Amino acid sequence: MKRNTRDPSHEKQDPNIGNRHKLYDTLGRQITYLRVSVTDRCNLRCLYCMPPKGVRFKPRAEILTYEEIARIVRVSATLGVRKVRLTGGEPLVRSDVVELVSSLAGTPGIAEVSLTTNGILLDRYAGSLARAGLRRVNVSLDTLRPDRFQRVTRGGDLEQVWAGIRAAEEADLRPIKLNVVVVRGLNDDELCDLARLTLDHDWHIRYIELMPFREETDWDADMPSAGQRYVPLAEMLERMEPLGELLPVKNEVNGAGPARYHRIPGARGTLGFISPIGLHFCDSCNRLRLTADGHIRPCLLGDEELDVRAALRAGASDEELLALLQEATHIKPPSHLLAEHVVPHERPMSAIGG
Ligand code: SAM
Ligand code: SF4
Repeated sequence: MKRNTRDPSHEKQDPNIGNRHKLYDTLGRQITYLRVSVTDRCNLRCLYCMPPKGVRFKPRAEILTYEEIARIVRVSATLGVRKVRLTGGEPLVRSDVVELVSSLAGTPGIAEVSLTTNGILLDRYAGSLARAGLRRVNVSLDTLRPDRFQRVTRGGDLEQVWAGIRAAEEADLRPIKLNVVVVRGLNDDELCDLARLTLDHDWHIRYIELMPFREETDWDADMPSAGQRYVPLAEMLERMEPLGELLPVKNEVNGAGPARYHRIPGARGTLGFISPIGLHFCDSCNRLRLTADGHIRPCLLGDEELDVRAALRAGASDEELLALLQEATHIKPPSHLLAEHVVPHERPMSAIGG
């Protein structure tokens, strides 16, 4: 099934946007991208993201309604935000997310709505998401082995993810990007196997360095301990030497973001590397994050946030929301401080959305 293909250059533009009303931070970085977490809940419990039990989810009353999210996106769009990505937790566990996509995709100024998902429910929703205006999906896929997938996700069924990826292709949610968090002792022996998927598929496989969050606990007795799980970019590349020389890819990947892309000669898809720690990309960061409970988070890896929910529910005007977004941009740090061992600890990754 084909859905409408839209050329971003012809997207609805808000003629009232002038430079005065765009979001530039103190370093001159322009914010054009908002990542919206729609829920802190998830149908998986990935080792590196959520503990197996005892997760305390936010009460429903503290989670932004779709109307509230749509309003923040509308105000952001008047400030030059062009892209919105829905994430979670797992965004597809929240009911009626298709309606949210439809409302955001119709917002003047928003050129692209995309989604990051674990893929478990994608089979069910890909078609209606595409019809609602979703442009593309990123699917998390850390391993090709069903038993290992079950272990990483604490119970997930890899076959459901494959069904989701197939459904996304049929719905033309392209380009499909597959996110691989590389963890020593877990999947670092599969980097080449994952890369070979690109020989036959036009997928973008993105290898992501494991980021430290909160107190790093030990997972299982036979897994590397907390301090040993991180695999730096240089080591990933070394482990991929059996693939031969990788060709650099320039300006080809839609929404390349922080990834640097390469290609196995002759492959249909590409290989991207996201190195928030080894080779961070803070200089070109163009995004703000909105948490499910309504806080604007200027930096993924920094705990400072602004409470937009309180403002919304106290009856803030659009002008006041606009001022909050400007303030969030203003306090965006020049870069994260992982090198100085400053690690986010107020929220787990699952409550921010990556
Ligand atoms: N549930 C969805 C999913 O898994 O794709 C969306 C939310 S998840 C938090 C977003 C992305 O963050 C996923 O690709 C996941 O693999 C990644 N992630 C989670 N914890 C991470 C960590 N500690 N370091 C690096 N990436 C992480
Ligand atoms: Fe859930 Fe995504 Fe976190 Fe896995 S990475 S536990 S799927 S939110």
